[in-house]
Amino acid sequence: MNTGIPSAQDISARATAMLARFYGYRSFRPLQLEIITTAMQRRDSVVLMPTGGGKSICYQMPALLSDGVVIVVSPLIALMKDQVVALTSNGIPAAAVNSMQSDEENRDILEQLYSGRVRILYISPERLLMEIDRWSRDLNIALFAIDEAHCISEWGHDFRPGYTMLSRIKEIYPQVPIMALTATADRLTREDIAHQLRLNDPALFIGSFDRPNISLRVMTNPGRNRKVSYICSMIDRYRNDSGIVYCISRKAAEEMDKQLTGRGYRSAVYHAGLSAEERNRAQDRFINGEVQVVCATVAFGMGIDKSNIRWVVHNNMPRNIESYYQEIGRAGRDGAKAEAVMFYSYADIATLQSFVDESGQQALNAEKLTRMKDYAEASLCRRRILLSYFNETIDHDCGNCDVCLNPPERIDGTVLVLKALSAIVRINGGAGITMLIDILRGASRQELIQRGYDKIKTYGAGRDLSFAEWNAYISQMIQLGIIDIAYNEGNHLKVTPYGRRILDSRGPVTLALYTPMERRKSGRARKEAEEVPQLSPAEQLLENLKVVREKLARKEQVPPYIVFTDKALLEMVRTEPTDMEQFSKVEGVGERKTVKYWRPFVTAIRKFKGIAESLGTGMSQEETLLLLNAGYDIPEIAKAKNIKASTVYGHIADLINQDKLSDFSSVITREQYLTVMEAVKAHPEDYYSYLPEDFPQGLARVAIAISDFLLRKKGE
Ligand code: ADP
Ligand code: ZN
Repeated sequence: MNTGIPSAQDISARATAMLARFYGYRSFRPLQLEIITTAMQRRDSVVLMPTGGGKSICYQMPALLSDGVVIVVSPLIALMKDQVVALTSNGIPAAAVNSMQSDEENRDILEQLYSGRVRILYISPERLLMEIDRWSRDLNIALFAIDEAHCISEWGHDFRPGYTMLSRIKEIYPQVPIMALTATADRLTREDIAHQLRLNDPALFIGSFDRPNISLRVMTNPGRNRKVSYICSMIDRYRNDSGIVYCISRKAAEEMDKQLTGRGYRSAVYHAGLSAEERNRAQDRFINGEVQVVCATVAFGMGIDKSNIRWVVHNNMPRNIESYYQEIGRAGRDGAKAEAVMFYSYADIATLQSFVDESGQQALNAEKLTRMKDYAEASLCRRRILLSYFNETIDHDCGNCDVCLNPPERIDGTVLVLKALSAIVRINGGAGITMLIDILRGASRQELIQRGYDKIKTYGAGRDLSFAEWNAYISQMIQLGIIDIAYNEGNHLKVTPYGRRILDSRGPVTLALYTPMERRKSGRARKEAEEVPQLSPAEQLLENLKVVREKLARKEQVPPYIVFTDKALLEMVRTEPTDMEQFSKVEGVGERKTVKYWRPFVTAIRKFKGIAESLGTGMSQEETLLLLNAGYDIPEIAKAKNIKASTVYGHIADLINQDKLSDFSSVITREQYLTVMEAVKAHPEDYYSYLPEDFPQGLARVAIAISDFLLRKKGE
């Protein structure tokens, strides 16, 4: 029945099938299926997932699973274009309505929406509010998806007035579920989103912020020349891909661009000081792969859905971990290996400090800067530090950051941790880091004594360590999520639930032995210089496949990652498919793309493997089956395979005889079937001569195969 709410099992089975057919993916990522199910069961939701986490599929899928259309509200026109091309290339009819297109074009698209020829519509908030009143109530809408939903909240960091009017959606369509999606929202913003959109008891989904495929590295005080040569080596290493260099100022971005261009690299510059036109041009060139690198200030990147950004370099330390994480998150969105490198110099700190002093919320921003600096100077797994900043604790080191790969000496820190925790507990979390250290070291500061902190049991329990040592170890405890800083309570230190567990179980905790910065640097610098890039056979095949992709992309005038993402190419390298069927099973290859692209890629792989025999034009029944399933009709299949329609019918008859095809609706009409059956009944021997003259050659065989099939079914 259409009217009832589908069951979770039903949705799961169908969604998994659609995921394979249209996207070529085998399984859902965490939360995706739950989010889709929630929408299909017509409940509102708020979805918080990092960039690259896989939000798009969550709101696209309901269009494939229901008769209704999905309306996606997005503030970014560049992103719309990208998504529409990506969807269309997977065989999903999508379109965008926006101010960049003519009225006529927009009207045409809306018409297609009504007739069901467009299933997913991207629209800006302003435009939606212009249109929504005019829409017929008969328009069957499965879902409203609000992308970048934090823009609706003044609490968020990117408030857009156009978003506030979106509350009207619920007024007009109280029955249609809304899915609000964002990559950045704290609790306050999250609640505000739900409130502003008038969501009705929304389900909240918070995805993991872990992006394990991005390797993390910090280089301390590299100096200008080393910075430039390091960036050049990145460009060289990823010749067919692209990267971003984030700079602290417009001037710095321009300077870096000049350095790179001067060395013959294809670079562009992007910052808020350029005209909108110049910025769009830089962005387009980057998306199309015309330039290998963009030197940018923070203004760059919002809404860039380019999945083959392989590296991000921070030429200077960013001002807080939120921006840092969002910026590195632009790399490796396809899930394949990517690199994030940050240059950290003491000079940056001074500049950033001056930004803080000029900012509105000085205390808060100063704290955030400190946390950023702690990350830069960390001697613990950097990913643990990042994730604990977002209140996500992982209990193991990541193995994919410079600290993990080149670890400092470890010590059993249990006693230190217990001392610090018990001091915090004894003073009821009433002090910040300096006071805590003073207590531990038994300092006789006046304020300390006034508050009676010299009377607690842990007073002076850490006298054996210097202030700098305690400072470093407590920073590590914060980074590990054992202690938290309460920014809204004068930066006082608090014991986290994780810290409580340690207190209860008495550890154990491993810390990194404190060594002053200067001593640590030289060892690491030497290792870096020794790295020499070289191509393995797998890398060579990958390069070959990238060339194939590049050619196809140019022919179709789309960015290369629309043809296939790097991740899909890597899967091809791993599985080395040598025929169409194997190709269709590669993760990331859906039906539409199999049909379109298998030949050039399989040819390249066969060549690489030294398979001399060419693919030829020979066709198997499986190929016909796949094309049929992909929605190709008979003339299209014949044309794609360069064979006669009658041969295609022959294969279809064989497929039916083998029980491989049981949906005949696209092959033969009921009338055609009955025509053949009548002729066979009347003239079993030479029915052929009794068929109408224009009856398609070979179709009679199909009809007879169907008849046999139905008899078989009956007999079962
Ligand atoms: P977001 O919108 O959250 O930034 P996207 O929806 O663009 O992220 O997804 C990022 C990448 O991950 C895309 O290349 C997408 O095709 C891929 N992806 C999404 N879901 C899956 C999945 N279930 N399996 C494999 N890849 C996926
Ligand atoms: Zn690590």
